[in-house]
Amino acid sequence: MRTPFIAGNWKMNLSDNETVEFIKDISHKFENRNNIEIAICPPFTSLKSALDIIEEEMIKNESFKIMVGAQNMYFKESGAYTGEVSPGMLKSIGIKYVIIGHSERRELFGETDESVNNKIKAAFKHKIKPILCVGESLKIREEGNAVSHTLNQIKKDLQGISKEEAGSLTIAYEPIWAIGTGKNATPQDANEMCKAIRDQIKEIYGKEISENLTIQYGGSVKPSNIKELMAMPDIDGALVGGASIKVDDFLAIINY
Ligand code: PEP
Repeated sequence: MRTPFIAGNWKMNLSDNETVEFIKDISHKFENRNNIEIAICPPFTSLKSALDIIEEEMIKNESFKIMVGAQNMYFKESGAYTGEVSPGMLKSIGIKYVIIGHSERRELFGETDESVNNKIKAAFKHKIKPILCVGESLKIREEGNAVSHTLNQIKKDLQGISKEEAGSLTIAYEPIWAIGTGKNATPQDANEMCKAIRDQIKEIYGKEISENLTIQYGGSVKPSNIKELMAMPDIDGALVGGASIKVDDFLAIINY
């Protein structure tokens, strides 16, 4: 049985103070949902404050539990890589998850399948759980190549990743045309791709890993569409952008 997993990708939003206020607010309104895993991925500048305030809030509200992830990292340990943050640095403050290969990083910052693969390897080496983002552009979908493109990304991004490591992987299927556009994939289309991803993982790592793999859908997830997405058999969660920085929307998504 797979545990539903909802993660918020804050992108380049919310200052350090706003992060603390957001977490206090969500903690005060939080209802007990034992059967779901929740993470937020603030910018690097707020990660430590997020971890600290969550720890404080967890003492006040026993049912409150949220993990903290990063939105990116470099794959090298240290050195002359101006502007980058290493997996060891994230690990040292207690980061549990890292988003790798988000389409904005691929499109705007030159991330390739090769760099994504290196980052996935580095994350596992440091026991940080990667959320690997894959998905097609509108052009690729219209050309009828959405499935082959997405599965190819997976094959390249997971090269050299062991079966044991794949056991703690999350894959987020995020069609690029649905990110931040208000247009979400239909639950049926999203599920079809998530099923194809699960089948691909089965081919690489076998039945057990594929059946336990958490696959999120991402792309304009909001309170009004989360329920039908989560009702699909191969969708185990959501990677949420815009709606994850609004306390009431994020709570409504968690409480789908
Ligand atoms: C995302 O950034 O991963 C995302 C899915 O964004 P949005 O929910 O805003 O479409």
